[in-house]
Amino acid sequence: MMLKTVDMAAARAYPPRVSKATEPFWSALAQGRWITTGCCDCGKQSFPPQIICPHCWSDSLEWTELSQRGVIYSWTRVHAAPTIFAAEAPYSVCIVDLDCGVRIACKLLETEAVAPSVGMPVEMVRLRYEDGDLFAARALQR
Ligand SMILES: [Zn+2]
Repeated sequence: MMLKTVDMAAARAYPPRVSKATEPFWSALAQGRWITTGCCDCGKQSFPPQIICPHCWSDSLEWTELSQRGVIYSWTRVHAAPTIFAAEAPYSVCIVDLDCGVRIACKLLETEAVAPSVGMPVEMVRLRYEDGDLFAARALQR
């Protein structure tokens, strides 16, 4: 299943540093795929993608699909933003527990229809900026 795409009318304020280890993740995201590394020995996924399993130290990893849905573990709205993100303030960020058990921190896209809350179901989306992609969570839209 492909991630839904949200078009952003701007360039990324702080583009990610793409390394040899994370390039497959960003290339997949550009195609709407939501993946990370999974361990061939203990079976656990990690995010962000790793070159060594942080659970058992195995170097036998493969690319695996992440759950596109989860729930908000915590969130906050940033009003006093760092200078580089000042033009985007106020904005929200959150920690999401994905259905697959992986916990990630990311931007939270707020919608007018739903106020964010702990435990709220969310879906992951691809943010298509003018210069590349990022990702975020937003309230699950039924
Ligand atoms: Zn492992």
